[in-house]
Amino acid sequence: MNEPVLSIRDLSISFKTSNGTVNAIRGVDLDLNKGETLAIVGESGSGKSVTVKAIMGILSGNQEIRSGTIQFRYNRDGEEVHQDLLQLSKKDMRRRINGKRIAMVFQDPMTSLNPTMAVGKQIMEGLIIHLKMSRPEAHERALELLRLVGIADPEKRMKSYPHQLSGGMRQRVVIAIMLACNPEVLICDEPTTALDVTVQAKILELIKNIQAKMQLSVIYITHDLGVVAKVADSVAVMYAGKIVERGTVNEIFYDPRHPYTCGLLSSMPDIVTETEKLYSIPGSPPNLLHEVKGDAFAPRNRYALNIDFQEEPPMFQISDTHYAATWLLHEQAPSMEMAASLKARIETARKEAGEWTESDSWR
Ligand code: ADP
Ligand code: MG
Repeated sequence: MNEPVLSIRDLSISFKTSNGTVNAIRGVDLDLNKGETLAIVGESGSGKSVTVKAIMGILSGNQEIRSGTIQFRYNRDGEEVHQDLLQLSKKDMRRRINGKRIAMVFQDPMTSLNPTMAVGKQIMEGLIIHLKMSRPEAHERALELLRLVGIADPEKRMKSYPHQLSGGMRQRVVIAIMLACNPEVLICDEPTTALDVTVQAKILELIKNIQAKMQLSVIYITHDLGVVAKVADSVAVMYAGKIVERGTVNEIFYDPRHPYTCGLLSSMPDIVTETEKLYSIPGSPPNLLHEVKGDAFAPRNRYALNIDFQEEPPMFQISDTHYAATWLLHEQAPSMEMAASLKARIETARKEAGEWTESDSWR
């Protein structure tokens, strides 16, 4: 069995604001297996960024971690180390983990770049300081990294400043900087959202290639399910500060069980649906300043049962890898038909993919 590199258990995080306490993360369980790409999806405000910022130890000052552990398993000088990242001080996180064993790429590459320094120097810096390379060694390695992330004419680019590069190129440079110290885990928080579609596709391909080459474990955050289908091995669907469904990419796309996942899939544009007719989930997510009673998705779920408004659903297991938190999976719940339009879309997608056979089929 593949041991996870990262295991989050029962993570709850609140923020103190002038309006009261926002319960942003409400009991998250999540595993990242070695060498896999895990996508976290969900509408804006569902808690994706806060979850990964907790892993990096870079939350803002007004947060309170109310419960949970974030176990990180890594190899230090041939020895397997298990560390709860929430127990490390900010200083130890910076010295031992951030940017070394766990690196993060943000939506805006300028968050990670120094506008006044040539990019070559920025890549070399980490190599010289953390890996104790000599200048010529670091120079060689920086060139290699620029080539790895697909930047043409790296000799010339070493001397460029961030403002002389396009958005896509800047993001490639950030990825090069992040890879410089050979991290075990790479976290990408909407890294392509600000880029145009063709550049986006190239960056996705790049991350996929590097992931395979370097045996990286990747957490990829996006609100775009089309991106998920391209990059992910497994998927966690987040809603109102909780993981409501998780499974392999096939399980989530071809056999969704949570009504929120079904809603997300129905609202995903595809080649057959005309954009104007796109479905969107009615209503909006709950305000997390208030206590959530029952299933947070219930008010938006037209199949909601009485119990959905009263009691929080547990995670029901569907397969070894597939779980969903919805009362619809309770043995006493009335059986539910998936919307015909979604059913048809899934059938088409399955036929196109070909590899998902009837024997894996649902119900
Ligand atoms: P997303 O899924 O879009 O990445 P976030 O993780 O950024 O969502 O935010 C989750 C929730 O936490 C949101 O309701 C957001 O308003 C709230 N939140 C995040 N950071 C803070 C903060 N520093 N202070 C107060 N609320 C915050
Ligand atoms: Mg975010």
